[in-house]
Amino acid sequence: MKWISDLIDLIFPRHCYVCGEILSRQEQDICLDCLYKLPKIEKIHLEEIEKVFWGKFDIASATSYIYYRKESPYNRLLHKMKYDNRPEIGRRLAMMAAEQLSKEGFFDGIDAIVPLPLSKKKKRQRGYNQCDYIAEGLSHITGIPIVKDCVVSTKANESQTHKTRDERWKNTEGIFSLATPEPIEGKHILLIDDILTTGATLTNCAMAIQQTCHCKISIFTLAYTYNKL
Ligand SMILES: [Zn+2]
Repeated sequence: MKWISDLIDLIFPRHCYVCGEILSRQEQDICLDCLYKLPKIEKIHLEEIEKVFWGKFDIASATSYIYYRKESPYNRLLHKMKYDNRPEIGRRLAMMAAEQLSKEGFFDGIDAIVPLPLSKKKKRQRGYNQCDYIAEGLSHITGIPIVKDCVVSTKANESQTHKTRDERWKNTEGIFSLATPEPIEGKHILLIDDILTTGATLTNCAMAIQQTCHCKISIFTLAYTYNKL
């Protein structure tokens, strides 16, 4: 009922996670102005994202939707999605990304969407896997099915946030294994993660998959760390 939500908004105003302005009833998590200024990745940087994975495993293509820059107020949006019980932000942003990427033909030939798994311990602590929500957003727009639990995370890797490049690679080695290859055997899969930094986690997961399974792998991440600008 409209008057109830209006009243709730009046008593407990919701604020934009990016600029802090009060949100209108139609706005969710982010105001229209900040949504309009979303730092979408420019075409010029897309090849750079694929290059992260070149020579490491057999990759078909890779893309990302927005920049994750140090000091950017948009980081708060991703932080809320990942650590503060607002995973539906991931679903909404992924739907917007899918609308754009569909027009560019990015999903052509992809058979299944595979969210990067979290270890059981980490999922229990956080209560959800944000990659599941991102996968749902992409699947909702494209109609491509999600395949879960074929690849599992066997060890709880520590947070990557404050690690050096070498530490990140060591930290994610051997944490993934392929539990049931059948659903993805011979398929073209889209592996999903939230933020791309060194690519260590995704590479180790892709390598674990391709060790025992013949499948084509593409990559989608919601954000890409880019600190050069
Ligand atoms: Zn705003």
